[in-house]
Amino acid sequence: MPVNRLQELRTLLQQASHAYYVLDSPIMEDSVYDQLFRELLELEAIHPELITPDSPSQRVGGKPAAGFTSVTHSPPLYSLENAFDLEELAAWQGRWQRVLTPQVPFDYVAELKIDGISLALTYQEGLLVRAATRGDGVTGEDITANVRTIPSVPLRLLGPHPPGLLEVRGEAFLAWDRFHTLNRERQARGELPFANPRNATAGTLRQLDPQVVAQRQLDFFAYTLHGGPALEDLATQWQRLQQLGSWGFRVNPHTQVCRDLGAVQVYWDYWRTARRALPYLTDGVVVKLNQLDLQDQLGFTHRTPRWAIALKYPPDEAATVVEQILVQVGRTGAVTPVAQLTPVALAGTVVARATLHNADRVQELGLRVGDTVVVRKAGEVIPEIVRVVEQLRPQGPPWQFPTRCPLCGQPLVRTVQAAAIRCVNPHCPAIGQGQILHWASRAALNIQGLGEKRVAQLWEQGLVCSIVDLYDLTGEGLAALPGLGDKSAANLLAEIAASKQQPWPRVLYGLGIRHVGVTVAVLLAERFGAAESLLTASLEDLSAIPGIGPETAQSVWEWGQAPASQILLGELQNRGLTLANTPRAPITPPQPLQGKVLVITGTLEHLTRPQAQALIQAAGGRVVGSLSRRTDYLVVGSSPGSKLQAAEKLGVPQLSEASLRQLLGQSETGSDGR
Ligand code: NAD
Repeated sequence: MPVNRLQELRTLLQQASHAYYVLDSPIMEDSVYDQLFRELLELEAIHPELITPDSPSQRVGGKPAAGFTSVTHSPPLYSLENAFDLEELAAWQGRWQRVLTPQVPFDYVAELKIDGISLALTYQEGLLVRAATRGDGVTGEDITANVRTIPSVPLRLLGPHPPGLLEVRGEAFLAWDRFHTLNRERQARGELPFANPRNATAGTLRQLDPQVVAQRQLDFFAYTLHGGPALEDLATQWQRLQQLGSWGFRVNPHTQVCRDLGAVQVYWDYWRTARRALPYLTDGVVVKLNQLDLQDQLGFTHRTPRWAIALKYPPDEAATVVEQILVQVGRTGAVTPVAQLTPVALAGTVVARATLHNADRVQELGLRVGDTVVVRKAGEVIPEIVRVVEQLRPQGPPWQFPTRCPLCGQPLVRTVQAAAIRCVNPHCPAIGQGQILHWASRAALNIQGLGEKRVAQLWEQGLVCSIVDLYDLTGEGLAALPGLGDKSAANLLAEIAASKQQPWPRVLYGLGIRHVGVTVAVLLAERFGAAESLLTASLEDLSAIPGIGPETAQSVWEWGQAPASQILLGELQNRGLTLANTPRAPITPPQPLQGKVLVITGTLEHLTRPQAQALIQAAGGRVVGSLSRRTDYLVVGSSPGSKLQAAEKLGVPQLSEASLRQLLGQSETGSDGR
């Protein structure tokens, strides 16, 4: 079993490395590569006898590309060990400290990990004579002519320097603005854009025409130095960096000495957010032992220095395995497929489920149980499956959407416009129980003690089949419920009785009319102060309310016309619910976006811009035209503009239209109707 998995991982990682290092066109996300690479390392640690010489774990970087003269590096250009959280960082400290005895004073230098391409620059008597890529760590490519075009690489060292040969190492990179310009130009010429600045840098440095490289305006940060006895006065990494600066190199200004791991943590915590405002891409923080004599004592493994580690930023995406595919039936009858996943840490939480949206999405992914998938969490949106790692796909046919409701067993129906599959059985327990749960929910009648389990029990015992039945419950009836003591029963009855005092807008929301979220309910209650006037409202009256779109107006009007709605309201009135605005209960609109500043980009599917603006305002938010760090959310429609990239850079959370509607209580699961 481990042999197969190891083989599978090796083949996949080899393909990925080739695409990444040689073709500059990655076939998977870096975070997914890192995770699979780690799995390989873990398996090889358990089964060292299975390590093969061609395993990706035995190699530092990629193959050198053809087309340039080869250069042998001495010492090799190593990779870095990765830590993905602070615990792993502490474990690394533990490891190097065990090697060095007795304990000696030390500190660290924390540097930003620039996501570019490492270069080795050779200076002879202060003059740049050769520049090489890292290649596989031992053999790189001579790209001197190209590197000469990088303005921040000095062609001659400034000020005094030791005689003979010196080697400066650092990272060549492409700043965000240059990267975006380059990709726009490529797209205009019908060429494929680069996946990220690192691939764009690699592609640029491999150009055979230095003039093309010059136009791209690469940049360079120097971070280390080799040069024999003449440099022995430099005792720390920090001093090396100062020296590099005085020779005219760009040294990253955010580098910092940290006295211990606590200080490193503060640095990392700061940069994991602040990095979004940097004009270039970083993918973590490099922590190096500052004292060079300690570095020498610790040395290297076959791949990495023991005295340095890269502490990566938590990714927004991760790979995991689909353990099961379930379908959920909502109170509207909409059937949503959900993937149950092997729990995986992602953006600060553990993700064990991801939405699959609808049957079309599942089909598009060709999803099957056992698939390795990439999950993403963007902004506060629930995790979703971005794609399947096809190379790790198990044998067998794709998962089939059920043709019958898993709860009531009735055939499911596909709605033409919405690509949704629904259960249309009005007696389906999922629909009935969902409606009661919605009625009892916090934004509606706020009945405490009426959660999923309790509602299911009441339903199964035949005590409650609709929201009206709640108001006919008695102490004797509840006594039949297993596990519900006298006190809890009395509390539940008191909660239900108290809900009669809830104001009209909440009742209106609780009715679950299609497209009527909390905000629309308030707008409707403002215009129609009582249930009767809402029932008799014309379509024109409804459409004239600012913030209410034609779809919502049509849905409310249809609801008002249905005899069942009139009967329901009559029954609720008889039981004493509040079906009109009262002076005692002024409208206090729930404000889910209180004080929030939103920017919209692209075209929204269900709302016009003025409608979206009115709804956001009614929910306490404000829509502004331009994006800044003070923006709370960027609402992203189809064909978004440059604001999307700007938001990614600034770290402004994004909201899809569906998430916005969910926040406004308008979503498919929130208030979509029958
Ligand atoms: P790495 O990029 O994770 O770390 C080592 C590199 O960090 C060094 O070579 C150096 O270039 C760079 N670096 C940046 N700032 C530095 C600083 N201040 N001090 C020292 N070094 C600094 O390791 P790697 O071996 O170059 O590449 C492995 C990474 O490449 C993986 O973590 C993965 O994310 C990515 N990769 C992705 C794919 C893919 O398919 N997406 C394939 C192969 C590799």
